[in-house]
Amino acid sequence: MSSLAAISQAAFGDIPAPLRGWLLQLHGVAEGQKPTCRLTLLYEELPACLEYFQSLGLEMLIDELPSDALRFGPQSPKLRAEMRRLKHVRVYLARSWSDARDLYRAEAKAKDYADIGLRLGYPVCCVEAAEAADEMTWNIEAQEWRQTNLVAVGIEASTRADFHCNHLLIESTIASFGPVSCIAHYPCRLDCEASSKIGEAALSIASRRWPLWHEVLIPLLKAPVLYWPDTDWPPDFWQEYAGLALLGATMRDDRTWSSERAALPLASVDLPFPSQGITAGSLQDGGVLVQSPTATLHLSFDLFGKPWLISWEDGTVRRLPL
Ligand SMILES: [Zn+2]
Repeated sequence: MSSLAAISQAAFGDIPAPLRGWLLQLHGVAEGQKPTCRLTLLYEELPACLEYFQSLGLEMLIDELPSDALRFGPQSPKLRAEMRRLKHVRVYLARSWSDARDLYRAEAKAKDYADIGLRLGYPVCCVEAAEAADEMTWNIEAQEWRQTNLVAVGIEASTRADFHCNHLLIESTIASFGPVSCIAHYPCRLDCEASSKIGEAALSIASRRWPLWHEVLIPLLKAPVLYWPDTDWPPDFWQEYAGLALLGATMRDDRTWSSERAALPLASVDLPFPSQGITAGSLQDGGVLVQSPTATLHLSFDLFGKPWLISWEDGTVRRLPL
């Protein structure tokens, strides 16, 4: 992790920290790969970022983040409440003022879900899949609305995976170091062809502009992922990005892995089981056995559900038990 922080500093030291995770989106718009993009920032982060937007020649419209966005998100009710306490802004960016304004209007005025996605340059197949699956259900236990987990929907629709579609690290603790996803949307499948093309174009920006980061990004995107859908988890653990990226690990005999590096939790909030420092594990019939510095834990399917194993290197997507 510390070496990643050092590489981030070397690659992006002169770029405002809140923007480092968004760089592929911002430069994608500046270079004409994408029509528009939309960022969420803390209100107090905004002044430091304005000059960078201008240096890219981008037009922008800034608005307070719609309060709905923080009331109905996929996060736990507790996290949503914490986020609501801080003032956030949405920045709508495009090369032309009219495109930025039209994106703003699509969200703030019309709240047209599909129109927003298409204006952001997301593939039609992904926009349609998200629109069809996304809904709010009233959760009796939490006495709160709960949004469909669109990450899980995309994984469940997949039989193959292309690492250009790997968006699973964007809520992790390394997301503040630099861009960790080549796409900004929920892909309809993990091998969505249109999303892969967008991802390839974004990676070409990274390799040209920040070759140091590009070099660390590729293995991050290719690390196998164990993903647990949060469907039956208690409200305090609702989290659409829940699982472990097995950094530097390769699967042996299809069922066991070990690595010198600890697995990276996909979420920066707690999972319902200890998830720090895990360096080895094995896939068993009733659960996943993992090795942390202090203990061996059995993550039973009965307690936590059955995770998915996504092997970006060989392109397989499988639900446990294998
Ligand atoms: Zn798609």
